[in-house]
Amino acid sequence: MKTIQSIAIDKDRIQNLAAQARAAIPPVGAQKEKLVARIKELLKEKNAVLLAHYYVDEDLQVLADETGGCVSDSLEMARFGHDHPAATIVVAGVRFMGETAKILNPEKRVLMPSLEAECSLDLSCNAEVFRRFCDRHPDRTSVVYANTSAEVKACADWVVTSSIGTRIVAHLQAKGEKILWAPDRYLGAYIQKVTGADMLLWPGYCVVHDAFKADALLRLRKKYPAAAVLVHPESPMEVIDQADAVGSTTQLIRAVTKLPHELFIVATDHGIFHKMRQAAPQKRFIEAPLGGTGASCLSCAHCPWMATNGLVNLAHTLETGENEVLVDPEVGRRAMVPVRRMLDFARRIKTRATGEANIASPA
Ligand code: SF4
Repeated sequence: MKTIQSIAIDKDRIQNLAAQARAAIPPVGAQKEKLVARIKELLKEKNAVLLAHYYVDEDLQVLADETGGCVSDSLEMARFGHDHPAATIVVAGVRFMGETAKILNPEKRVLMPSLEAECSLDLSCNAEVFRRFCDRHPDRTSVVYANTSAEVKACADWVVTSSIGTRIVAHLQAKGEKILWAPDRYLGAYIQKVTGADMLLWPGYCVVHDAFKADALLRLRKKYPAAAVLVHPESPMEVIDQADAVGSTTQLIRAVTKLPHELFIVATDHGIFHKMRQAAPQKRFIEAPLGGTGASCLSCAHCPWMATNGLVNLAHTLETGENEVLVDPEVGRRAMVPVRRMLDFARRIKTRATGEANIASPA
């Protein structure tokens, strides 16, 4: 595994932007009911469909389910928005998800409750620096995580999500290709470990998953020896190494129903608990710890940018048409190529975004 030493990530800027993200204030009681009813009317009036990520507020997930939209990971959100006949797609998530919806649906209007919803991985990977780096390594196939800007995707050979990244890299490795991977160093290291591929890793990171601490997790496991540990592979390798199941959000929700355990320690954004509780109402879920050596709690297991999505700004964007996601048509056309490559690959292997988590064999 080779991390690219010459690329410096501006961690202070990313941490500052994360700290400045303004979480939406959830309405309550009669105000909430009125707002939910109005949003349902607006979705019909505007011929719009709501796509919500697992990490956004539970109210938005419920609304997406109740109105025939989807609650899912970024791969399935992209696919669902593409196949749905609605003229307007509303993405409750972060900006790269809105951009991916626009790339796949240039003829549709794509709206977001908040255009300030960044992602630290996207912020870790400047398009111009990435393009120059690819130019310096023409012998490598560039594979970028979906958590990147449209401009970065437009420079890449492949786009992948965490649910399908391992399969795609294994496929490329079988063809003898060497990989330039960006931007998540932990996911890249995990895929490298599983596939054995020759990968050059961009040093980006997610502010939420980077904060999970292996030493504190070890102590928590001792306290709850009967619990299974579920880990998203954007987490540090020492955390992944303690997992009973490693996988994308959809794969981790599946693991909750597959594993016999009654209690789960979960190392990913706690927004996922809504769907985990739906999938296994009799089971219990606790957050993996952020305390321990070198701990900071900027995110507290919840993405500060996902938290900018709320019922109030969702209603506002539907009423006004503000916060439209725009992608330069030429950039979109080029970015469409690696995104479609991923979707075609997924269709071929029939994973449908609900593949299995990598469940560790019992020791
Ligand atoms: S949880 Fe991490 S990877 Fe996901 S959107 Fe937030 S910053 Fe990006």
